[in-house]
Amino acid sequence: AADVHLDPAALDALVSDFHGELIRPADPAFDARRKVWNGAIDRRPALIARCTGVADIRAALAFARRTGLTVAVRGGGHSFPGHSTCDGGLLVDLGLLKGVRVDPVRRTVRAQAGVLLGELDRETQAFGLATPSGIVTHTGVAGLTLGGGIGWLMRKYGLSVDNLLSVDLVTAEGELVTADEEANTELFWGVRGGGGNFGIVTEFEFRLHPVGPILPAGPVIWPMESAVDLLHFYRDWITAVPDELTTAVIQRWLPPLPTIPAEHHGRPVVMVLACYAGPIEDGERVLAPLKAFAPPLLDLCAPRPYLALQSMFDASYPHGRWYHMRSCDVDELSDEVIDIAVERGRAINAPWSSYPIFQLGGAVARVAPEATAFGGRSSGHTFNFVGSTVGAEGFPEQRDWARQSWQRLAPHQSGVYVNFLSDEGEDRIRSAYGAAAFDRLKALKRHYDPANLFHLNQNISPA
Ligand code: FAD
Repeated sequence: AADVHLDPAALDALVSDFHGELIRPADPAFDARRKVWNGAIDRRPALIARCTGVADIRAALAFARRTGLTVAVRGGGHSFPGHSTCDGGLLVDLGLLKGVRVDPVRRTVRAQAGVLLGELDRETQAFGLATPSGIVTHTGVAGLTLGGGIGWLMRKYGLSVDNLLSVDLVTAEGELVTADEEANTELFWGVRGGGGNFGIVTEFEFRLHPVGPILPAGPVIWPMESAVDLLHFYRDWITAVPDELTTAVIQRWLPPLPTIPAEHHGRPVVMVLACYAGPIEDGERVLAPLKAFAPPLLDLCAPRPYLALQSMFDASYPHGRWYHMRSCDVDELSDEVIDIAVERGRAINAPWSSYPIFQLGGAVARVAPEATAFGGRSSGHTFNFVGSTVGAEGFPEQRDWARQSWQRLAPHQSGVYVNFLSDEGEDRIRSAYGAAAFDRLKALKRHYDPANLFHLNQNISPA
């Protein structure tokens, strides 16, 4: 699909109606612009439309309807399976839409569809505020929010979708609608977990909370040999911690990053990452038993700016490396689940593969399951096996590690977070939502996108 023939009349109409950048395969900018975060994804759209606003998005969608081209939509480009690009189709790239406006009096923020997490946090933290988001700054607000949004503030303040107040969205037919608790309420239910299935969201409005600016956060790190004991300790410890604390357990080889002393590079470790969204002294008291569990190899959990926490793991998941993810939720860390978790840590045999186990609960679990389309309210933990290499070399082996790890855990899974799915088929998407919510999402899809124009996503087919 090096240079797909595009209908000249339709292209002329688009060119005259478009204010952003239109990039074709022959353009010098094409190679840089077609790339997505996951280096294992290598696709060539026929046309990249970098939109400057709603009018450009409508023009691009009119072009797609007229030509019948496949449509891919890109916010931050972080879809694990590469849903924000395509071969031979139209890529609607929202990356130029960078507007962020904080209202410190109402404690709300409006963010346009191309804003990345770090850009949003930077503006809200200027007022000592934040909205719950994810754990890597270069992730897109758009895709993360539309799937749910798990991160360091979730047990205290809920998911990203629990703080979503409204969206502006362009439908497949090019109509602009606003959805919130009062208008288009079913659509508002669906965009809080249902992904990009119903249209292109152009702007998000979120509730804000006072956060930091300094809070106790970061990893406490032990040799991987401690994993069995640590996970048993951790399972009991987290039953009594307050909602201010959100944690994740990671097993991996310590990466060769400047923040890690060189003598520890490449060492297999188990670590608990923590964030306490409250007063520093309270957080230190809550974290003390964890630090006393056994003398850590490294204790990097200390008072730090919220913005520093948010960028702390950026270098561990850089653009362009090859990644394959497999994920599932479990209700609890039973003895069997811990045994599998430990075994899968020991099976890591490469420097960039790793897997977090996120702790859910708290405010996430207090929202009624039917209040939003997000499916994992009652899950205890989310596992995300990340097989990764610098390039093609060795990638199949790391991909197999992720797949096998997931298979080992499959008997214990209670669902899956839709934003952590690879291309795994409709049954897996249904299991992310549960049967009743999935049927409700299908009905919504039939209303807003009966022709399935927006199908490069965790697709809710109208059929
Ligand atoms: P994109 O690839 O641009 O989009 C993802 C999907 O959303 C595509 O189907 C796309 O078409 C659709 N889409 C994008 N923008 C719009 C829009 N404006 N309107 C309609 N549809 C749209 N998730 C968490 O919850 N918490 C985390 O901490 C977290 N950390 C991550 C860290 C990394 C390094 C990566 C790669 C992912 C992480 N994720 C996390 C998963 C993340 O939520 C998903 O990958 C998400 O899809 C990324 O959104 P994006 O806008 O960057 O992606």
